[in-house]
Amino acid sequence: MFEKILIANRGEIALRIQRACREMGIKTVAVYSQADAEAKYVKLADEAVCIGPAPSTKSYLNIPAIISAAEVTDAQAIHPGYGFLSENADFAERVEKSGFTFIGPRADTIRLMGDKVSAKEAMRKAGVPCVPGSEGALPNDPKIIIEAARKIGYPVIIKASGGGGGRGMRVVHTEAALLNSVSMTKNEAETAFGNPMVYMEKFLEKPRHVEFQVLSDQHGNSIHLGDRDCSLQRRHQKVIEEAPAPGIPTKVRDKIAQRCADACKKINYRGAGTFEFLYENGEFFFIEMNTRLQVEHPVTELITGIDIVKEQIKIAFGEKLNYKQRHIELKGHAIECRINAEDSFKFVPSPGLITRFHLPGGPGVRIDTHAYGGYNVPSHYDSMIGKLITYGKTRDEAIAKMQIALSEVFIEGINTNLDLHRDLLHDSAFKDGGMSIHYLEKKLGMKS
Ligand code: ADP
Repeated sequence: MFEKILIANRGEIALRIQRACREMGIKTVAVYSQADAEAKYVKLADEAVCIGPAPSTKSYLNIPAIISAAEVTDAQAIHPGYGFLSENADFAERVEKSGFTFIGPRADTIRLMGDKVSAKEAMRKAGVPCVPGSEGALPNDPKIIIEAARKIGYPVIIKASGGGGGRGMRVVHTEAALLNSVSMTKNEAETAFGNPMVYMEKFLEKPRHVEFQVLSDQHGNSIHLGDRDCSLQRRHQKVIEEAPAPGIPTKVRDKIAQRCADACKKINYRGAGTFEFLYENGEFFFIEMNTRLQVEHPVTELITGIDIVKEQIKIAFGEKLNYKQRHIELKGHAIECRINAEDSFKFVPSPGLITRFHLPGGPGVRIDTHAYGGYNVPSHYDSMIGKLITYGKTRDEAIAKMQIALSEVFIEGINTNLDLHRDLLHDSAFKDGGMSIHYLEKKLGMKS
């Protein structure tokens, strides 16, 4: 096994990965920006290297600084976590060219999946159902664009091939607005992602977001770990996730999940990954693949008993998966609430000093956080300060445990979105399960 891993990330995920390493007897190197010098995971790591000032472009996105940190500490592998450089193919390539193992897929896989047009094409070929849409990128010819939209049927959505983070998309309801929307999205895509290529999809009106976790080793073995429902979103940011997705017939779920595992074999995938789908009227439509660990991975860990981070490390080292698909049993139900340092209903970020901090506990409660009383939440990064996850034999039990856990959490000094979670955990539509991706924004709209 690796003797030393560098963790190229911060916050709760840096701590999560560090814990997995320590459990496996692997030494850890933390890299940190000047704003994170006092962080818990920096103090707990075997070694720590400052990689630059607070802005992430100068630290957590600073490839040369991260590679030299790995060199001076003699780390053998680099775990990128999520966000930052985790889906940057150039980074993965530089890591491997410098003689380290990248804990994730090969650079060419990241590149293939990072471009949405090529990702859809690869998935279509691998037998994964996709949202009906244009065949590849839209050409310049207006006649062909109009024809494509007529064939798909309005409303359609124009999406940037290089887009991400919910940006570079535009919904079009009428033919009159089509050409203008296409050229605006192209311009935006060029400016934001340096790639003007756009494509067209049917706009699904009331879908759910359902995704599948996969694991693939370097010996041709791929398995899936079931699904997660992440439909409760605001501005395309997930707020609450759960596993399994409620109300989806086992047969339907298993069929798509198996297609995802098979697709991994076809594209020679390495590591952990997530296939994201929109689910509407009993049908799944692929939208994108994330070639990294996800924020919401704990809900899958709780229902499968598999530690996804440890599996990532073992796969990167070259070990074979210890499990065949028949060994994977999805048991019980898990829910995750993302705790953000922001106002519950106005969503204004609220960095600063946490003066008092009390966490819940008890059976079936897991907390992944790097925060503590006395911790200063820096203003430079994502506002998520932790995740509260509960597990129950049934969905109702997981909800009850979450309601109790939320009633026990106490964070003072900064604003948090705990009240939003408290509200949602008592929401009757949430209790029924199966809301669409628009549910939360509609509900919030009604409130203000
Ligand atoms: P990103 O990489 O920016 O997250 P995605 O392709 O994953 O882009 O889409 C982000 C979100 O946009 C989806 O979760 C969904 O809410 C919405 N979306 C994308 N494609 C469609 C579609 N064809 N119909 C309806 N909503 C869509």
